[in-house]
Amino acid sequence: MTRTHDRPIFNRSLPARRAFWAAFIYLVAGFAWIAFSDRVVEAWFEDAATLSRVQTWKGFFFILVTGLVLFTALLRQLHKDRALLALQHGQRQALRSRERQLTVLMDNLPGMAYRRLRDDQWSLLFVSDGCVELTGYEPSELIASRRLGYSDLVDAATRERVGRIISEALTADQPFSVEYALIRKDKREIWVWERGRGVIDDHGEAVVEGVVLDISERKKLESELAELATRDSLTGLLNRRELSRLLDEELERAKRYQRSLAILWIDFDHFKDVNDTYGHAAGDSVLKAVSKLFLDSVRSVDLVGRFGGEEFVIVLPEMDVNEAHETAERLRTLVSSVPQPLGDGSSVRLTISVGVAVFPNHGLTAAQLRAAADRAMYRAKDRGRNCVSMAHLSPHVHNDA
Ligand code: GH3
Ligand code: MG
Ligand code: MG
Repeated sequence: MTRTHDRPIFNRSLPARRAFWAAFIYLVAGFAWIAFSDRVVEAWFEDAATLSRVQTWKGFFFILVTGLVLFTALLRQLHKDRALLALQHGQRQALRSRERQLTVLMDNLPGMAYRRLRDDQWSLLFVSDGCVELTGYEPSELIASRRLGYSDLVDAATRERVGRIISEALTADQPFSVEYALIRKDKREIWVWERGRGVIDDHGEAVVEGVVLDISERKKLESELAELATRDSLTGLLNRRELSRLLDEELERAKRYQRSLAILWIDFDHFKDVNDTYGHAAGDSVLKAVSKLFLDSVRSVDLVGRFGGEEFVIVLPEMDVNEAHETAERLRTLVSSVPQPLGDGSSVRLTISVGVAVFPNHGLTAAQLRAAADRAMYRAKDRGRNCVSMAHLSPHVHNDA
């Protein structure tokens, strides 16, 4: 069986062997020609003068034939050399043009291309010019530096998380992509996306090659979108969906640790009159001001949300019936005593009606508590507005508890 795949491309002894054989054939042919032709000529021509002339012509004939053979061999070889040179030239041109393209590509990357060792410091062996703009460091500050490895540009938790993702990908011989926060030389934090894979370099060493791109703008947009999805656009308070989600979470916690939890259902009294008298924009201005008043008047653990229109809900973790009632009263008094700005320099005094429901006294689920607080708020309206009404004890509590 012949093994062709590992045969060396260049056999160093081949030219010498070929030259030797060519010379050998030439010598054998030369000796054979001299010996054979001399004998034939001597047999044919006996006259010494003719023999001498024939010998001379025989010499000319030998020179002519060997000259022709030499000419043909040289011509073939020179043609081959020229074709080889043309091929080399073409390959060099192609290589140069690929290098140029690669350089342009790397220089215009919104980030940097890199090659690094697979060590704990993520020691860089090469970075493209984009390194300065991305990290604030010159390539020379990071490449083969004992003082600073690429892993020093991320915090410990990131190093651990990113390191794990990369080493799993390298073990599986798969490419990886990962997002993380990077600390620049000026200590500013940016978000980057890194994609790379393990390769064996020209010296046979296992390294990692890839690109790191700045994705801070995208991250900012993402967090703005996430914020938009959870906040009310007019007041900046939690929106209905987010407050409902957080209420479920708080309720779970209250059940697990057997703590109480209160919700306040707030509706403005005769708010339509504000809009009708001062205009919708003035109404908006009042809603914004009162939202801030609510936020400033509750604890940091309390959750304030706008449920729609001029209806607000406040979740008060770990508050019992008495504490919740006191908080509702405090807010009601505050709103009625502080004139709210209408946005044109003037202000208006408003009142609120508040319904209070407490877990576990008035309901065991978020839906029961919300309904109980809503009903209590309507009772406050019925009682003449600008007052606080406590929810009725829930029949569910006795049945389910
Ligand atoms: P009540 O005391 O019975 O609650 O009277 P009300 O006028 O407040 O009645 P209701 O709560 O049913 O009506 C809410 C009004 O709030 C209706 C609407 O004009 C106004 N409103 C709802 N959403 C907005 C808003 O985003 N901006 C402004 N300016 N007004 C709003
Ligand atoms: Mg109202
Ligand atoms: Mg209302």
